[in-house]
Amino acid sequence: MVDKQLALLGGNKTINTNFKLYHSIAEEEKQAAIDVLETGVLSSFLGAWHENFYGGVKVQAFERAWADFFQVKHAVSVNSLTSGLISAVGAIGIEPGDEVIVSPWTMCASATAILHWNAIPVFADINKQTFNLEIASVEANITPYTKAIIAVDIFGHSADIDALMVLAHQYDLKIISDTAQAPSALYHKKYAGTLAHIGGFSLNYHKHIHTGEGGVMVTDNDEYAERMRLIRNHAEAVVEQKGETNLSNMLGYNFRLGELEAAIGIEQLKKLPKITARRQAIAMRLTAGLQVLEGLQLPIIQPECTHVFYVYPMLIDVQLLRVSRQSIYDALVAEGVQGLVQGYVNLHRLPMYQQKIAYGSNGFPWSAEFCQRDVDYKLGICPVAESLHEQTFLGYQMCLHELTNEQVNLIVAAFHKVWSGLELLRGTLKEG
Ligand SMILES: *Cc1c(COP(=O)(O)O)cnc(C)c1O
Repeated sequence: MVDKQLALLGGNKTINTNFKLYHSIAEEEKQAAIDVLETGVLSSFLGAWHENFYGGVKVQAFERAWADFFQVKHAVSVNSLTSGLISAVGAIGIEPGDEVIVSPWTMCASATAILHWNAIPVFADINKQTFNLEIASVEANITPYTKAIIAVDIFGHSADIDALMVLAHQYDLKIISDTAQAPSALYHKKYAGTLAHIGGFSLNYHKHIHTGEGGVMVTDNDEYAERMRLIRNHAEAVVEQKGETNLSNMLGYNFRLGELEAAIGIEQLKKLPKITARRQAIAMRLTAGLQVLEGLQLPIIQPECTHVFYVYPMLIDVQLLRVSRQSIYDALVAEGVQGLVQGYVNLHRLPMYQQKIAYGSNGFPWSAEFCQRDVDYKLGICPVAESLHEQTFLGYQMCLHELTNEQVNLIVAAFHKVWSGLELLRGTLKEG
């Protein structure tokens, strides 16, 4: 018999166990790592025009496996997606002062990759159903200075890449897809990330598959692939001998992935379909259990797309329920639900954008002469993103734990219990 009294108000908790932290490393990864360790060579990259310019055997095998899986011509491994996005923005030939449109609902690196080339991030609003870039807002933000769009496949669902590619065609823009959270999600029968000019995946611990740190960029464009490989590995030291004549953005870094990570990545990639299927099964169980609750928007999957659920995104209709998100969140946490997050982010609200202080302290690059326009980051530029963040978005971070079906059932039970006690929350908690 389920105790009806909310745990928040002194009743018993629905969930009394700690969920197991996500753990996808097993014997295969251990053996792959040992095999590399036994060679004693943990990276074969050389930052010179040399046969080892493209990295060691595991790095190259990993890139081939990734390109095969995602059905792309080129996969370029990097030591993080942060590095990868920097190399992608450089590869497409962005100039200082160019504007690049990006979503405010993403990890900060999607936007700093733009600033790294002294280009200017412009934030467009998001869509209420997919939380990805809203096409009308993207178009409204295009100026003569716009050169690219970074589309983020947030929470595990692809951005509307066909519509973005139409804009790209119309306005001569390049599209970079940040697919960190949506590896193997499908968009119109193709993998998310593979339909843009360049796509990128993260192999950070929290992602579906990981190597601790790491990333992979994908493209069908030979020139972009080669420019990313150059930026990855000290371009400026290599261009002359390699015979590269286009020196624009050939300012290199060390963004190289090690052999250990690559060897682990090969094993992790094999597990991606199974990991994804498990995420989707959990999400279906959540949806089946939660769909009867009024005032709760569950994940909306667009036609001919799949969702891979890095986060299980929900919206609470606080007007209809007359209960604040904070009250519902507190009640769910009190029931023992682990992994919930209120709101997401609004990158444009970070101090760096508010004060326009990035390089040094004088407002560079925004204050530079090459900046043609005073780009606005004030509250109100992304009304949907802002209101969902402040008031209605509730995420279940599926990336954090490994859940048994019984635990998923308990999460559902906790939601039901809180929903049947909403009247009490109205009475006892101040609406925020
Ligand atoms: C994780 C993440 C990144 C950054 O990836 P790293 O490999 O940690 O640098 C970028 N964008 C999004 C949307 C992410 O979730």
